Amino acid sequence: MSTSRAKRLDGIRRAVAEAGLDGLVVSSPADIFYLSGFRGSAGALLVTRDRALLFSDFRYRLQAARQAPEWEFVEVPRRLFARLGETSAEAGLRLLGFNPAHLTCKRRDELAEAAPQVELRPCEGLVEELRAVKSPDEVEAIRAAAALSDRAMAALVEALRPGVSERDLALEAEFLMRRAGAEAVAFDLIIASGPNSALPHAQPGDRALASGDLVVMDIGARVRGYCSDMTRTYAVGKASPRAREIYRIVYQAQREAAAAVRPGAVCGELDRLARSVIENAGFAEYFGHGLGHGVGIEVHEAPRLGRNGERILTVGNVVTVEPGIYLPETGGVRLEDLLAVTEDGAETLTRSPMPSELPIV
Ligand code: ZN
Ligand code: ZN
Repeated sequence: MSTSRAKRLDGIRRAVAEAGLDGLVVSSPADIFYLSGFRGSAGALLVTRDRALLFSDFRYRLQAARQAPEWEFVEVPRRLFARLGETSAEAGLRLLGFNPAHLTCKRRDELAEAAPQVELRPCEGLVEELRAVKSPDEVEAIRAAAALSDRAMAALVEALRPGVSERDLALEAEFLMRRAGAEAVAFDLIIASGPNSALPHAQPGDRALASGDLVVMDIGARVRGYCSDMTRTYAVGKASPRAREIYRIVYQAQREAAAAVRPGAVCGELDRLARSVIENAGFAEYFGHGLGHGVGIEVHEAPRLGRNGERILTVGNVVTVEPGIYLPETGGVRLEDLLAVTEDGAETLTRSPMPSELPIV
């Protein structure tokens, strides 16, 4: 088994033993990929002390052999979770963990009916905890994804002008990243202009950019299964004093929080650091989301940088720092960088210029 995957399997077995379980059902595609390398859309893993099984159907037999050669492949034509239950019972497992955030009630029932003697216990986030600490290979994939989004951001900035639509800009960025080697976009790209920029998760529409608009551009690519995430805000043609003001505040909040990202930093304190800059400027109620989130196989994963986060950052965490101010009248500003926590601080993986004053194009 490749050393990184062998390490991950060891890691999850340790976590399973510490939780007092005999085995674990892994049903989320991101967790399945992380542990086994398998990227099919249908399947589940069963991890026990001495076995590592991948359940899927005929369509994925060859793919599984290629992507997860060390895992025992169990081909199941239908009712995959019933089969998984039977296997658990045959193996003599008594206490089997599952992730209630991912296993549907229907599948859990199917599993339970097939294995009445096996007790099922909800255990959230066992694999996600492992995923939160990235290996150098994983950081390298995220760095590559970030580099593609940097190229797309440069093209977007070039393309900003009155009359161009949000949708065309989003398509342009997606095309550019995929042409340059991204497997996909990491999420539905956000190009939000004018009044739409006040919506943190606006969908790009037919709206044409107009002079005086703020434009929030939140983009990410996926490379070798790993995501990037970055936001920049520009003004088109001209900018109001209000827009310039909130940009300066968000910039300061972003810089201060990003500079504090290092091993030992408490997630909630990073959020407070950025939030206090925005609060002191009088815009507390216009920063309604958390400061940031972990990024990896999924674009939102552990650790979360939220208001009350008690978690402490460690080397290998990859997180965003993305404060924003969203004013219904003026529009919104969000600035987001992606950082990998290193021994002596953090490496900023997203490199697109972030001017200290609102850039106008
Ligand atoms: Zn983002
Ligand atoms: Zn983000």
